[in-house]
Amino acid sequence: MPLETVKLTASFKLDGSIPESLFSTYREVLGQLLDYAWVKGVTSFKRLRTEKYHELRAKYPSLPSHYIYTACQMACSIYKSFRKLKRRGLAKAEKPLFKKQVIMLDDHLFSLDLESWKASIAVGGGRVRLKLLHGTYHEKFKEMMIGQAWLVKSEAGFYLKVVFSKTVELAESNGRAIAVDINENNVAFGSTERVKNIETGERAIRTTYFLKRRRLQLKPRLNEKTLMAKYKGRERRRVEDIYHKLANQIVDEAKGLKASTIVLEELANIRRRIRRSKAINGRLNRWSFRKLQEIIEYKAKLAGLNVTYVDAKGASSLCPICGVKLSPNGHRRMECSVCGLEEDRDIIAVMNLLRRHQMDVGASPVHPEGPPMIKEGRDESLF
Ligand SMILES: [Zn+2]
Repeated sequence: MPLETVKLTASFKLDGSIPESLFSTYREVLGQLLDYAWVKGVTSFKRLRTEKYHELRAKYPSLPSHYIYTACQMACSIYKSFRKLKRRGLAKAEKPLFKKQVIMLDDHLFSLDLESWKASIAVGGGRVRLKLLHGTYHEKFKEMMIGQAWLVKSEAGFYLKVVFSKTVELAESNGRAIAVDINENNVAFGSTERVKNIETGERAIRTTYFLKRRRLQLKPRLNEKTLMAKYKGRERRRVEDIYHKLANQIVDEAKGLKASTIVLEELANIRRRIRRSKAINGRLNRWSFRKLQEIIEYKAKLAGLNVTYVDAKGASSLCPICGVKLSPNGHRRMECSVCGLEEDRDIIAVMNLLRRHQMDVGASPVHPEGPPMIKEGRDESLF
């Protein structure tokens, strides 16, 4: 069976503080490594470490040595993404810079005690032990391995973001798949047997918070900034909560239909679609799509299902049987002038994604006619 590693990040707020000197020293080290990587064109962590470690070790003797390793790792990945952006003409700066208050930690630099909710972090001259406050932690992390972490300083305090990982066995592909079509306010998913269409209610949530924020901007108060952050956090949590429940339903549906694979839309197309719809309402965002896909992907993999991405260009506007452009036929329905197919556009999208997946894996399409539609509204007990 194919093996795959699932990685999840948990974020904990730390009760207490980390010496400012650790952040400033780390930023200095990282800055020097970034300059060096940029001047010499170094993208390899091993080379950067070989060429710079001893010099930096001697220059910062009180800094625990593993911080130099993690700074080398960060410098390489920052320089690599800078170079990529530069090539595409998207980087404005002359050279890569990193101004955020972020420190990367490896397993020598921190440890977690999830029984007593404490973290221990190496600083110059010893370790600080801090209590962990609320976090995006879930029981399922208990059986996972702890990998690297990030120490983040923000206006609200210090945070520890820890990467948990687990190796899972994925099912052998059995030719059965379900496809997921994500829209601003509904998500359609299903197989050739049936398609479910769930209204997410995301638009209403986004509108509510959009109005709250605007009211605040029109009538500023002293605690405006705190309130803004609070609204933002609440909005994000409400939307993420919906995504988690939705993803559970999708995984359950895949298991119920004995599918081995979940088919998602490739991001490139999602970007195009957002650009197009931005002109219409401006509230549909790329973050939402990617976030929901991420949640579906890790939940699917933890359940042993394969996840694959297919090009979704024109998925809701082309005939899944003959490939010609469909014409709208009343509310959300589409009609094919060649073969006469008439179907809801969400079903069309799911059918096209499934067909493209079948073409990718070299199978012949089954059930060319549309599946029966099970229309489901927002289930209050779930959301
Ligand atoms: Zn047709």
